[in-house]
Formats: sequence, C-alpha cells, structure tokens
Amino acid sequence: MDCLFCSIIKGDIPSTKVYEDENVFAFRDINPQAPVHIIIVPKEHICCADAVNSENSQLVAKIFEAIPQIAAAEGLANGYRIINNCGEDGGQTVKHLHFHLLGGKKLGEKII
Ligand code: AMP
Ligand code: ZN
Repeated sequence: MDCLFCSIIKGDIPSTKVYEDENVFAFRDINPQAPVHIIIVPKEHICCADAVNSENSQLVAKIFEAIPQIAAAEGLANGYRIINNCGEDGGQTVKHLHFHLLGGKKLGEKII
C-alpha cells in the first residue's frame, strides 16, 4: 500500500519525530500553520475518522493519551487545538488517520 504516513512511520521517508510509543507516532508538520504544528497518527493504517470502529477505537484513545504528554513537552501550557480532517469535504489530503496538534500562539479562524 502506498501511504505517505506509513512510510514516515517505517522511516522510509524522513520526518522530525517528537513522540513514539507502541501504538502512536508523532512528527512535525512539513508546512506548519502555527509555531507548534504536530501530526499524530496511529502506527496501524486507518484511512480516516470514518473508519474508526469498535475494533480499532482503542488506538484513538492511545492518541488522546499521548496528546497531553506531547503538549507538555512542547510547552503548550496555555492550550492548543486538535483538528481532524475527514474525507473530501473535510479537506483530508493524506488518507491515514491523523490529528493536527496546533499551538504556540493564540489561534484564530475558528469555524466552530
Ligand atoms: P490533512 O490535510 O489533514 O490531510 O493533513 C495532512 C498534513 O500532512 C498537512 O498539514 C501537510 O502539511 C502534512 N504533510 C504532508 N507531507 C508531509 C511530510 N512529508 N512530513 C510532514 N508533514 C507532511
Ligand atoms: Zn498509512
């Protein structure tokens, strides 16, 4: 399967890793939209939020357990934003489930 984030997890494509455990991998976004912009992914390939189910939802929980650790390591004591884009209408460009962690400034452009 040709998946950019699977290749990054395997180390076939370089990335700036900020966190890794048994289930979760996180690295800096190549085109940062904030002073801190980290992509957090499950190591197992899941295409998108729409493919989360009772078999794999524990991996999403693992991601959200990692987030406070990553945020603390990045010094985001004043808060941050987590974003997931799903599918065409959601603007998802890489079809491997991922969460954007954005912070390091007061973020604007809230949609909701
Ligand atoms: P999305 O639009 O939600 O699918 O987000 C995909 C994100 O992956 C974008 O913010 C890209 O900047 C980021 N991205 C694409 N290629 C790379 C890469 N090689 N290393 C790090 N981030 C990447
Ligand atoms: Zn993948």
